[in-house]
Order: sequence, then structure tokens, then C-alpha cells
Amino acid sequence: MSNAMLNRICNDENDPLLRVKLRCKHGDLLSMQTSWSEHNPARRFWSCSRYREDACNFFRWRDREDVDIRSKYVIQRLAKRIKELEEVLASYESRVESNQVDQMKVQRKEEAQYKEMVEAQWKEEVQWKKKAQ
Ligand SMILES: [Zn+2]
Repeated sequence: MSNAMLNRICNDENDPLLRVKLRCKHGDLLSMQTSWSEHNPARRFWSCSRYREDACNFFRWRDREDVDIRSKYVIQRLAKRIKELEEVLASYESRVESNQVDQMKVQRKEEAQYKEMVEAQWKEEVQWKKKAQ
């Protein structure tokens, strides 16, 4: 799951700070994100997307959100599980794709064989008709 999708799921639509217009030194309009780090799971923040490359250094937590220990534990594991399942899904998708390619190759080969067979029959028929005349 992309971070943008996770952010969408985790954001509380009624949060008054969700639509606050916050800008970094670049003047970029920042949107609220959710941290998935071990120490701050589900904690929301704003940061510049050019944080590393451009030394903007803009970073701000939404506020001091205390996440209870149980939730921290569960959230971390759920996030890890989502990643694992996405990897499994991706591997199935690539297998399905290669199966489809294989099936297409088999189908093309069968079509080519059928075409050859029809052509051979047609030639035989033509020769037979010539002899019959
Ligand atoms: Zn910036």
C-alpha cells in the first residue's frame, strides 16, 4: 500500500488540522502524513517532500499524540502484515502474468499448426480436383 493511501485511510476527516495550509521554506503546500516508524506509529506530521535533497529541514508533528502501548504493538504488526500480503499479491500477479504469456504462446502455436493443417488439406484437395478433371 502506498504511503499516500495509508495516509488517506488513517486521516480523521473531522480533524480541524487536516486541511490547514502549511508551507515549508520552498513554499510547497504540505499535506498531513502518518508515520509508520517503530517509535512513532500512527503519529501524524507534516514534512517537506524535498526534505533530504534540498536541506529544507521542515518537519512538524501534528501534536503530542500519545499512542497507547497496545495500539503501537498492534499497528506495527498490522503495517508489517500489510506489507507481507502485498508482496505475496505481487508475486501471484507476476505468476498469473507469466502464465497468461505462456498460454498465449501455446494458443499461437496451436493456431499456426491448425493453419498449416488447413493449408495442407486445401492443397491436397486442389491436386485431387486437378487429377479428377
Ligand atoms: Zn521544503
